[in-house]
Amino acid sequence: MASGIHIRRRAFLGGVAALGAMQGFGIRAQAAISPSVGNLPSRGNIVIRNAYVLTMEPGQADLPDGDVHVDNGSIVDIGTNLAAPGAEIIDGRGFIVMPGLIDTHWHMWTTLLRNMSGDDRAHGYFPMTTALGKVFTPRDMYYGTLLSSAEALHSGTTTVHDWCHNVMSYEHAVEDLRALQETGLRGRFSYGPARSTPLTQPINVADLARMQGDWAGLSNEGLLTLGLAWRGVQAPLPNADGKLELRPLSPDMYRVEYEAARKLNLPITVHLNSNKFDSGHILALQKLGYVFNGLQVIHAINTTPEEMDILAAAGASVSISPASELRIGFGLTKIGEFLDHKVNLALSVDTTPLTGNADMFGIMKLAQNLENGRAENEFKLPARRVLELATIEGAKALGLADRTGSLKKGKRADIIMVGTRDVNIGPFTDPAYMLVDSAQASNVDTVLVDGRILKRKGKLTTIDTGKLMEEASAASQGVRQRANWK
Ligand SMILES: [Zn+2]
Repeated sequence: MASGIHIRRRAFLGGVAALGAMQGFGIRAQAAISPSVGNLPSRGNIVIRNAYVLTMEPGQADLPDGDVHVDNGSIVDIGTNLAAPGAEIIDGRGFIVMPGLIDTHWHMWTTLLRNMSGDDRAHGYFPMTTALGKVFTPRDMYYGTLLSSAEALHSGTTTVHDWCHNVMSYEHAVEDLRALQETGLRGRFSYGPARSTPLTQPINVADLARMQGDWAGLSNEGLLTLGLAWRGVQAPLPNADGKLELRPLSPDMYRVEYEAARKLNLPITVHLNSNKFDSGHILALQKLGYVFNGLQVIHAINTTPEEMDILAAAGASVSISPASELRIGFGLTKIGEFLDHKVNLALSVDTTPLTGNADMFGIMKLAQNLENGRAENEFKLPARRVLELATIEGAKALGLADRTGSLKKGKRADIIMVGTRDVNIGPFTDPAYMLVDSAQASNVDTVLVDGRILKRKGKLTTIDTGKLMEEASAASQGVRQRANWK
């Protein structure tokens, strides 16, 4: 049933439940096929001492000289002078300790195509990713997502939403997912169409159900969840004159996909009202009874106040990606309006062929600058609010607020340490200002996901980035050659 799935030895030893699940599905264990990723470290007993602790927990004051104690993957205590017998001590002096950043929409496979969105129509983002996406092998999916995962950990992002819209076969999805498993990230994998799937054709919903059935062996001990990457009910399409015209999509596609996901009790994510060519998409969904609290809408730049109220009332969420929205010319990201309408709003990378990198600090800064610029008001979007969008609001958007998004006793240990003595960030002032105005990925010294140290002293602990770059470069070259891309 799953003969194409390669599970590494480490995962095979990862627990009785997972073992049983894998045997049940006949998945075979075998040695690593990528030499660039080592085994995940164990979840230790660690105390970070004397750091500036910014918990992002609502109503909780910062601890300017605090400790965070982590054991077996969870936060066991936060305070000062904590007794933590037997714990490995990490010196937190000179660091801000905060929850890991949360991305809420990222086509992770596309990082193999980084810096390839050209300056003319034939080489633009959509034609480029479609032409090259068509020739991706499952292994190419793996390398694209592995590169993204490495960058996420490098940049202090501990949770990702892998919006996988190049699922040409079940194995493409499984290989993409394998990069998330091997690198130990928390996240959601949203199963979507291929780049080249016609808008009239539904995805293989039997494979979606199959993946959910296989999930016990794929979820990396519950670190990963599954969702549907959906295409919505309308789209701007070129008419006979080549002009874009908003047209309804076929229910034979959208209804089949939507109903399959709902039947499987999966969350659904969709790009809509992305620019001036798509409008009223949320109203159209509401007419069908399709707006629910597991729905995430993306970009939503061309959304009306009435539609914002529909999202807020349903508990649906919005993911904005200002860096890609500006680069591709969708328009100016809406932020304050969604917040005024009490819509859950979170930040996302989207795709590195447009954004160049996946630095969430840069995305936070851009969000604040954009909103203040649009409002012609220096004080419109405070730094603390931006930090909430990148942490606790992101966790809510992905249904993970019970385990991540803030530092709180009992939550899972997704923690980053940001250096405050580097030349681009010091001297120490207000930590929220430092994080939004100054911080860059390179200031991230230490990253823990689920209590595992995945970056330490500025270096990834399990990924050999030199080898990864060699392997990924070969994969990227192969893709370009097969597509005859010039
Ligand atoms: Zn997107």
